[in-house]
Amino acid sequence: MDNKADKTSLLSVVIPCYNEEEVIGETIKRLKAFCAELVNLDVELIFVDDGSSDSTRERLKSYAAEDSRVRLICFSRNFGHQIAVTAGIDAACGDAVVLIDADLQDPPEVVHEMIAKWQEGYDVVYGTRTERPGESAFKLATARGFYRLLNRLSDVPIPLDTGDFRLMSRDVVETLSAMPERDRFVRGMVSWVGFKQTALPYRRTERFAGQSKYPLRKMLRFAIDGILSFSTKPLQMSVVLGLLCSSLAMAGILYALVLRLFTSIWAPGWTLMMIAILFLGGVQLICIGILGEYMGRIYHEIKKRPLYVASEYIGFEAAGPRLSRSPVVDKK
Ligand code: UDP
Ligand code: MG
Repeated sequence: MDNKADKTSLLSVVIPCYNEEEVIGETIKRLKAFCAELVNLDVELIFVDDGSSDSTRERLKSYAAEDSRVRLICFSRNFGHQIAVTAGIDAACGDAVVLIDADLQDPPEVVHEMIAKWQEGYDVVYGTRTERPGESAFKLATARGFYRLLNRLSDVPIPLDTGDFRLMSRDVVETLSAMPERDRFVRGMVSWVGFKQTALPYRRTERFAGQSKYPLRKMLRFAIDGILSFSTKPLQMSVVLGLLCSSLAMAGILYALVLRLFTSIWAPGWTLMMIAILFLGGVQLICIGILGEYMGRIYHEIKKRPLYVASEYIGFEAAGPRLSRSPVVDKK
């Protein structure tokens, strides 16, 4: 047995929070209860406030003031869930790092089983959802469709029904931190990293309180990010689409020629022409759009802006913040 956890091992728990005032009190209670049950492991709870506009930040500050295990990274604005998770990973000092949502959909108690698997020698233990009560039929169907499509398109197999709820060893965390890409699809990046990975089935519960912070628009963006970050197949598909259209056009030309040569009628009129023009115009726009999406990403990468701007780091004094990605140094 590869005993990676010993007396001095530290577990970092990263919790991204965006307007979670209704749930954050319960979350900290459950996390503290979870910490109390841990033996042979120290814990740091790294909350990342992703530019909340409610009282989440103030509450987190007061938790950090009363408990030295609580650390807080405050973003200067909302940067999005995946970037918040990245900031937490960057700042984590633990021998293992756990990613968990603030809304208690991923029960902290399951982390005990993740730790056990880590102690058996696994580098990544990812939670797979066996049940998802409280999610709309639409969300379940689109999520299912998305992960299946993603796996067909991507060269990296990305596990189905898996979110960001997972435990990662220090080796994996170091590798992730060395991946500078801007469009971050964390669950895909962790699959790409490799090492010894295993699934842990768990029952995803309903959100404890409040609303989902992933409206349809953000979900779509997230899905497109996932596909474009892990596959160039859409580009190849646009070539196939172009070839298909050319074949159709060739068939049309042959049809018109045969009509003209053998029946002495001209191929009938403008309807056919309009259809052909609209069809080709549509296909061309789609292909340019696909190209544009990739080009936009290159543009985004090349600007080399920091991934996030943190206005405050609180509670890191003891651990020492690792500010490799953020230009803003702790103001405290
Ligand atoms: N979240 C975040 N920034 C955002 C959106 C969400 O940090 O811009 C956090 C949110 O507070 C929660 C987690 O990401 O802890 C997952 O979000 P949510 O529960 O709303 O997503 P869902 O579970 O509905 O997919
Ligand atoms: Mg949720």
